[in-house]
Amino acid sequence: MVVKVDEETCIGCGVCESICPEVFQMGDDGKAKVLKPEGADCAQEAADACPTGSITVE
Ligand code: SF4
Repeated sequence: MVVKVDEETCIGCGVCESICPEVFQMGDDGKAKVLKPEGADCAQEAADACPTGSITVE
């Protein structure tokens, strides 16, 4: 599993971090960062919840 965040479309809402802090952390630039690309099951849940569809899980 590979998790990516599109920083062009991320609005920095923090939803992904609150759902799946093992994988996502908000960066100093206000965009979500992927800590562990080979992430946890919650990464898909976060992708489904992202309001801008900025998270891809492949
Ligand atoms: S849920 Fe989506 S828009 Fe919100 S911080 Fe995470 S990647 Fe960005």
